[in-house]
Amino acid sequence: MRVFEVPCPDCSGAIEERHKPGMIEMGRWCPTRPKIKGHAGFRLNALVPQLANASWGKLAIEFVAVKDDPSLLQTFVNTILGQGWREEGEELDDAELANRREGFSLDLVPADVLVMTAGVDVQRDKVGGEILWESHLLKFTTFHRKFKHCTAIH
Ligand SMILES: [Zn+2]
Repeated sequence: MRVFEVPCPDCSGAIEERHKPGMIEMGRWCPTRPKIKGHAGFRLNALVPQLANASWGKLAIEFVAVKDDPSLLQTFVNTILGQGWREEGEELDDAELANRREGFSLDLVPADVLVMTAGVDVQRDKVGGEILWESHLLKFTTFHRKFKHCTAIH
């Protein structure tokens, strides 16, 4: 049986998959931008879940299989590592993008909404995504809003 391990960032000791449940139990969310108040965003990659398909060994094998194909590697980086993909030569002017934002009235959101979640797929020429909300945690009522806009900078 092969044992997959990663080096500890503090002591360089070996961390094995069997340590994952304890690490999850001891884990905590740490703000990376504490100056932002009133809302928070979270990101969790596929290395964390304790599902068999998310074992470090399977993910390492998957990485080795895709690492030399940029389009497959992009999918791996986006979906498994939960990170954005950056290609050389693609630079976004954040001020220009910010000037293209549109208002979203909170009047559209029912008063009893407890949780809102947004997912966005950014492509070269469009943005597609959904905003989901739950108005009651036990009913799991969900509302979907889809939107598409051109992302090309003119
Ligand atoms: Zn350590």
